[in-house]
Amino acid sequence: MATSLDQLKTRLGEIHDLRRANALIGWDQQTYMPVGGSAARAEQSATLQKISHELFTADETGRLIDAAAHETDKLDPDSDDARLISVTRRDYHKSRKVPADLVAEIARVTGQAVDVWTQARAKSDWKPFEPYLQKIVDLNRKLADALGYAEKPYDALLDQFEPDMKTSEVKAVFDSIKPDLIELVRQISAKAGAVNDEVLHREYDEQAQWNFGLDVIKRYGFDFDRGRQDRSVHPFTTSFSIGDVRITTRVDRNFISPALFGTLHECGHALYEQGFNQELERTPLADGASLGMHESQSRMWENLVGRSRPFWQFFFPKLQAAFPTQLADQTLDSFYKAANKVSPSFIRVEADEVTYGLHIMLRFELENEMIEGRLKIADVPEAWNAKMQDFMGITPPTTALGALQDIHWSGGMIGYFPTYQLGNLISLQLWDKINADIPDLTEQITRGEFGALLTWLRTNLHQHGRKFTSVELLQRITGGGLNPAPYLKYLKAKFGEVYGL
Ligand code: ZN
Repeated sequence: MATSLDQLKTRLGEIHDLRRANALIGWDQQTYMPVGGSAARAEQSATLQKISHELFTADETGRLIDAAAHETDKLDPDSDDARLISVTRRDYHKSRKVPADLVAEIARVTGQAVDVWTQARAKSDWKPFEPYLQKIVDLNRKLADALGYAEKPYDALLDQFEPDMKTSEVKAVFDSIKPDLIELVRQISAKAGAVNDEVLHREYDEQAQWNFGLDVIKRYGFDFDRGRQDRSVHPFTTSFSIGDVRITTRVDRNFISPALFGTLHECGHALYEQGFNQELERTPLADGASLGMHESQSRMWENLVGRSRPFWQFFFPKLQAAFPTQLADQTLDSFYKAANKVSPSFIRVEADEVTYGLHIMLRFELENEMIEGRLKIADVPEAWNAKMQDFMGITPPTTALGALQDIHWSGGMIGYFPTYQLGNLISLQLWDKINADIPDLTEQITRGEFGALLTWLRTNLHQHGRKFTSVELLQRITGGGLNPAPYLKYLKAKFGEVYGL
């Protein structure tokens, strides 16, 4: 007779199949689906989500979790099976805590809010979006109350994306680095003329850009037998199994950065997904530890590797060979600096490595104030602009360039933004450890060799999937918790050199 653990795995496998099938139709929707398919596709996706949600939250799932735990109570708590049960139990209890009518209400409000936000942003008019954001904040308060929290309601919201991370810890870390970041931006702004990035905005053949990106990620170790790249308006990574990981990129004929650095970014996400231990396939553990940990991987391959001088020592001659006329007047040094230009700007997704963190910290502060009722929704645009002035010395001329720029709030996601900056911080904590473990990593990168780096990541991080939280992984790998020191040291050294500070 099948054990309860076997029965649980069968059930979780079927739920996993439904979720990954939903990911597949979502990928198709954003890549190849004709517009005529959108209404039916929304129904198909909703049906798959409903069935998988019902299967997962059923009493029978809870019974199997308890019975399987009983059968396996002698197992090593860090074994795959023991972790499968504890992670599933945690997911199960969280999904059962949220009443079905609250889930439905959030889906209904955000479904409308995204359309309202799209139009509000087009007209740069906050007023129509304001009542929707108010509802979304109220619903997120209810969601936090349903999920439960120890200190602050925001803890429950953050925990959806970064399990075990506490608001107070994130706030302490963000507050501690803010003065240094603001000062660094101020010093760089005073020398704004030192770096010119006009070269990035020349005309580059689209197919040649595409080919160059593929060449780089092949060397990174992206496995094309277990993945592929396609075009989409908004780049993303998704996977249907460990053996089928999809990335997308966008290509702009008059701007080389989106395809070049976007491809490296998504490849970082994909290397993580391709690196999960095969034993975890078709279980809830075949996923990233958290959004922050996922972003640490994309940022590492995009920035710490892909915007580094050793990387360009190897790749600049190749890029020059691909675009001989466009890059005829460039040197390795001028191109490296162009790729690392820092400039305070209004739009987060276009921000450089130094200002990016400030964009995130602004959103984190505003979200906390909204959730705690300290900031009226009507006052958000003004509060946004005041912080932009404080942090970067610029004030958005329109709300579209300010508080209306991101889709996240209209989609109901509060607590998501900090994971981007957590990714930056974690990437540097890992990077310090990697460089200690691979002393000649810099030389390897100048030779276009990334095998030792990928092996390190596979061994220490990727293979575990979701067995451990990001907090646990940081502890296992670095021996400590979240630490912003490597991040600040890196930014000051790198951009001090680029700008001659
Ligand atoms: Zn990313």
